[in-house]
Amino acid sequence: MSNQDWLSRSTQAVWHPCTQMKRHERFPLVPIASAQGAWLTDFDGKRYLDAVSSWWVNLLGHGHPRIKQAIRDQLDTLEHVMLAGFTHRPVIELSERLTALTGLGHAFYGSDGASATEIALKMSFHYWKNNGQAEKCRFISLENSYHGETVGALAVTDVPLFSATYAPLLQKALRVPTPDARLAAPGESASDVARRAAQALENVLAKRAGEVAALILEPLVQGAAGMAMYHPDYLREARRLCDRYRVHLIADEIAVGFGRTGTLFACEQAGIRPDFLCLSKGITGGFLPLSCVLTSDEVYRAFYSDDVRDGFLHSHSYTGNPLACSAALAVLDTLQEEDILAQNRDKAARFSHLLAPLAARDDVRHFRQQGMIWAFDVESPRGDFAQAFFAAMLERGCLVRPIGTSVYFMPPYCLQDDEMQQLADATQQTLDQLSRSESGATSQPALP
Ligand SMILES: *Cc1c(COP(=O)(O)O)cnc(C)c1O
Repeated sequence: MSNQDWLSRSTQAVWHPCTQMKRHERFPLVPIASAQGAWLTDFDGKRYLDAVSSWWVNLLGHGHPRIKQAIRDQLDTLEHVMLAGFTHRPVIELSERLTALTGLGHAFYGSDGASATEIALKMSFHYWKNNGQAEKCRFISLENSYHGETVGALAVTDVPLFSATYAPLLQKALRVPTPDARLAAPGESASDVARRAAQALENVLAKRAGEVAALILEPLVQGAAGMAMYHPDYLREARRLCDRYRVHLIADEIAVGFGRTGTLFACEQAGIRPDFLCLSKGITGGFLPLSCVLTSDEVYRAFYSDDVRDGFLHSHSYTGNPLACSAALAVLDTLQEEDILAQNRDKAARFSHLLAPLAARDDVRHFRQQGMIWAFDVESPRGDFAQAFFAAMLERGCLVRPIGTSVYFMPPYCLQDDEMQQLADATQQTLDQLSRSESGATSQPALP
């Protein structure tokens, strides 16, 4: 079967996510037959360098032998058992390991990132309710935040393209300014922007803390905002203010956890511990859906009672799936035993060096890097920049999906030097090409 055969069958039968399906009349889907390392291969044998880790989930590379083996081994003993009333080795070991790494002693599981957000929001509210403060039922999130797209998570997500349509269904969250370092006024440092944003947060807390259960944020990098990066001072201030005003801090590390920002968890760079830590995406190396919310003894104790209604009565059918937990254990083993984060530091330095000419271009603004994430904004008159850039990069054998005019790379950690070079060259050529060609298309909102 060729690409073309799969294409028509897919558009007939599959409703693709985050997509205006009619666009596929002009921009065909890419049917993928196999993947290995940083590469995807289609049914006609063309290869694509996966520079976005398949929507940020693939951590160590496709087809990673150790993760595959862990899933195979688990498959021979136990594929799944319900986690209410039952337990099993992989979920116990994973919970112990995550606790040791985060200092948060209790792990609650879900399947996708959005379900982790839902769990954290519900748990936070329920904690206050069990403590006789049911009026603390609102949430604060940041401008340009993204925490998932189920109805609860969408309420704390500030991406109008995703949320505006569903506004009548959503709880009204309180929104505070983003500490995005790109907002620095002349002479202002990233830390100044962070402090300014923290002051705005304090103003809201001073007035509203009595009705607020939690502040939810993406530590260091707001992914769906186009990889907006900010100074860790904001996290330190947020922690201090949440303590002072008695509001939970929920750290959504669904995208930035597991070494993405250079440390195993982004919060480490601010030396803070959240009350809830949401993990997903890279947790299984991009092999299987799994999410986890870690929380403190204090939160856990508020649910521990003789009354069943004080308990956290929330569940998903696949909670703590053994295959997914085994994949996650293999990821943690690999990160530790192969000292991947130290290797990433050298890798990141080399890639940043290769990208220096790109950063120096006249049409490139705000070149930024944090761990294994690189991003920059392109000054382009084209309304269809994201789509045109994506298509032109695909021609050159690279998968890069800009968010608006923000181009970013979030590659699997297995990325090699020759692949970095290829990505840098293809990006230069594509920017040159797009600056020469006129835009035929009208402006359309860009999807991540
Ligand atoms: C992707 C993401 C989510 C949602 O995860 P899904 O698995 O797509 O539901 C939530 N928060 C952040 C920061 C994310 O990047």
